[in-house]
Amino acid sequence: MKPAAARGLLLSSLCLALCCRGGARGSPTSDNHEWKKLIMVHHWPVTVCKEVEKDCRDPPDYWTIHGLWPDRAEECNGSWPFNFEEIKDLLPEMKMYWPDVIHPLNHSHFWKHEWEKHGTCAAQLDALNSQKKYFGGSLGLYEKLELNSILQKLGIKPSINYYQISDIKDALASMYGVVPKVQCLPPKQGEEVQTIGQIELCFTKDLRLRNCTEPGELGESGRAWGPGLEVCEDGPAFYPPPPQSAR
Ligand code: 5GP
Repeated sequence: MKPAAARGLLLSSLCLALCCRGGARGSPTSDNHEWKKLIMVHHWPVTVCKEVEKDCRDPPDYWTIHGLWPDRAEECNGSWPFNFEEIKDLLPEMKMYWPDVIHPLNHSHFWKHEWEKHGTCAAQLDALNSQKKYFGGSLGLYEKLELNSILQKLGIKPSINYYQISDIKDALASMYGVVPKVQCLPPKQGEEVQTIGQIELCFTKDLRLRNCTEPGELGESGRAWGPGLEVCEDGPAFYPPPPQSAR
């Protein structure tokens, strides 16, 4: 299938994915938390472990969900606590695609954090206005974006050889039709290059793919989403293989 045709299919199925999941609850109060775009943040578990200098046990060897984040809005409704019961039905998919990479034996603290910090803001949208809709909708977007298989198709695989960041960004942009954002860990002492850590794809409020950064928009460089992670510098980058397959 050609990229343009794939994109058309992708967009309509993304909307469908959100409409079909979860049940609604009333809108949260959110007057002071204006936001414009939703950021679907995928992270590479091997790099997450490296970032926190933790020897994770068997991190997933696929990109998992870090979160679905409205830009410029955090912790919009402190009186809407995380309730695990609401997402119990989603548990198998949550564990598989939205694991706590750092604490694989207890995922719910991570999900609580993501709900309180980002989900309560995303819940301004009718399509995401309950915990079940927020987590279910995020899973739906993740599944429809198919980042793992798209990277495979593009021949972008973990490797001891370095990639050029512009090649990765251009290849993803040609598949999705929008500009992604790629984030890296800067090289530590003794390392030659940065390490790829996160891939972000962005959505409008009506859940259509959009560029993560518009030409001329401020904030492209240096914005760190986690301690150590930064927008990748143009140039070479390491996409680290999982420990068991490292050669
Ligand atoms: P945010 O707080 O905006 O959701 O994301 C940034 C934080 O998430 C950073 O402190 C980063 O270390 C943390 N983080 C990233 N991945 C994981 C994970 O898989 N589990 C946990 N517990 N924290 C994570």
